[in-house]
Order: sequence, then C-alpha cells, then structure tokens
Amino acid sequence: MSEQIERIKCLIIGSGPAGYTAAIYAARADLAPVVYTGMEPGGQLTTTTEVDNFPGYPDGIDGPTMMTQLQAQAERFGTDVRLGMATKVELSKKVGGIHRVEIDNKKWIEAESIIISTGASAKYLGLESEQRLRGGGVSACAVCDGFFYKGQDVAIVGGGDTAAEEATYLAKICSKVTLLVRRGEMRASKAMQNRVFNTKNLEVKFFTEIDEVLGDQVVEGLRMINNQTKEIEEIKITGLFIAIGHTPNTDIFKGFLDMDKTGYLHTEGKTTKTNLPGVFACGDAQDKEYRQAVTAAGTGCMAALDAERYLSTLESSEEEKVSEEEFIN
Ligand code: NAP
Repeated sequence: MSEQIERIKCLIIGSGPAGYTAAIYAARADLAPVVYTGMEPGGQLTTTTEVDNFPGYPDGIDGPTMMTQLQAQAERFGTDVRLGMATKVELSKKVGGIHRVEIDNKKWIEAESIIISTGASAKYLGLESEQRLRGGGVSACAVCDGFFYKGQDVAIVGGGDTAAEEATYLAKICSKVTLLVRRGEMRASKAMQNRVFNTKNLEVKFFTEIDEVLGDQVVEGLRMINNQTKEIEEIKITGLFIAIGHTPNTDIFKGFLDMDKTGYLHTEGKTTKTNLPGVFACGDAQDKEYRQAVTAAGTGCMAALDAERYLSTLESSEEEKVSEEEFIN
C-alpha cells in the first residue's frame, strides 16, 4: 500500500443519477462527500440522447446535459468530484470500522462510510456494425429511446423478460417490431411470453441471430441468419434494441459484500444497507428490476440518508462514551 492515504467521512463510488443524488444529500448533511466518477463519468445516461421520462423536464433533456447538471448541483453543496476508478477495496466488518478503497491502482482512500453507485453496463453483441451505430439507431434501452421510432419498424434482440417487456412496449409505439431469439424458445416467464405472442404487430423469429446491422451513419436494416438452416434474410428497420442483459459493476466487491449469482448487490429490506456496517448500495448495482434514472436517483437519496444516520449514531455513541469516561474520572 502506498503512504498516500486520505481519510474522509463519505466516499461515493460512481457518478450516475444514484451517485450524484447521494452526493447532493450527503453534501447537504455536511458529510463532505468525495465522488469518484469511474470510467464513464455521468454513467449510462451519457450514452443516450434525449431523456424524456425524468420528472421535471417537460421538454426532455439530453443525457449528457442532465448528468452535467446533476454534477453541478452536487458540487454546489461542496461535493468533491474526482475523475478516477475504484480498483480494489478492503472493507471493515466492524461497526465504526474504516473502509479502504484503492483508486486507479495507486492511491488509497480511507472512508468512514461508502456509498456504492457503480451501476451496471448493458451487454452488447460485440458486432463491429452494432458498435459503430450505437447512438445512430442502436440502443440498449427501449424505455429511453423507443419513442424516437414512433410509427417506424424496429427490431429487438433477446429472449429474456427484458426483451419480452421491451418488445411489447415498442409494439405500442412502433408500426412493426421483430424480436430475434437465438434459441427455439424464450427464457422469459410464460406470462411475458403470452404478452409477446398476443401482440399483433410483434413477430418473433426463433433461431435467429444478427449477421450485420446495415447502414452507414444510421441503422437502415438488418442482415439475419437462421442458425439452424443458415438461411440469410434482410429486413428494413430504423432502430435496433439490444436486450440481452446487464452486468452490474460490482466485481471489486466480491468476497466482501453479499450479491446474487449475477453480481447484483444485496441490500437489507427497504434500506440501502449491505451486509457490512457503513457500506451502502444504490442504483443499478443493486437493482435489476427497474433500472431507471429516476429510481436510481431515489435509491441514491436513500443511501445518503442511511449513511448519515449510520455516522450520527456512531458520533452519539462516541459522545456517550466520552461523557461516561468523564463521569468515571
Ligand atoms: P436474462 O434473463 O439474462 O436474458 C438474456 C436473454 O438474452 C436470454 O434470452 C439470452 O439467450 C439472450 N442473449 C444473451 N446473449 C445473447 C447474444 N449474444 N445473442 C443473442 N441473445 C443473447 O436478462 P434480462 O432479460 O435482462 O433479465 C434479467 C433479470 O431481470 C431476470 O432475472 C429477469 O427475470 C428480470 N426481469 C424481470 C422483469 C419483470 O419481471 N417484469 C423485467 C425485466 C427483467 P439464452 O436464453 O439463449 O441464454
């Protein structure tokens, strides 16, 4: 460990809506929070265009601007926002223990409390054409971007609950939706599958994978391959949605924090408490159900309130100890 160690009250790891909302609340509660932004300052919203479903923006707002404003709001109350990535942790099991977090493989921070808001990353297929057209018609969030394809033909890839839910959502907005499932059946629950099969303008193509997303600057179509017959088919679409799952960014907490088998952090009941005292989790790192900016912001607020309560309980038990000692002396 290097000698360069800084001690702070509240460390927030991650800078999406959850992290910045936690920072706003923590800064206003005098916890002098430090936010480390992670690899993608501003989080997943910086990769979307218009955000039309965050309350308070009647005309919508583009994702990067919204995140810049959230950062400015957190800084207004004294949050220290730093570029940097948490690369390793040493978390204490003791109430009142000090947690250590390594930043960028070189500097260590000691924190009395930690708020984890590292988010999740959408999985992509990894095709060159898919990556090139991200933001030009390829999206991993139908709820965020579906509206831009109103009355148009789109396709969606995936066979899980997310793909099923997003395909039926898109079918309400778009004229036709083609759902590509790589196996001969869907992984989604039967109820969700029923909704898919009962939606008129939604066609499911089984055993189908994408060979190439067609288009130069924007999506114009898809070349698909049937992985059984090897038959190639092309369709015209303007939007392609990838719904093959998310990966929570929680690898560095393995071995310290309880998580499910896919890496989503466990939190206690309706709180943001993890299994370790003074460590709280919010946003998509602990939520695989809702995954919206506004729900992430809500849990960010909860994490800051939980951290504040934890620290003030520690302080009052410290004060009680001191006054007991004074009395004994
Ligand atoms: P998921 O359950 O992991 O499903 C991912 C789907 O994508 C699978 O069908 C998988 O195919 C497919 N896939 C993966 N890689 C692919 C690739 N390279 N090419 C083509 N297809 C690929 O993920 P999810 O649907 O996001 O759901 C995550 C969790 O959230 C689940 O537990 C789900 O039940 C839950 N959820 C619940 C609701 C709800 O209840 N309302 C809504 C959304 C999500 P294979 O099946 O062949 O592996």
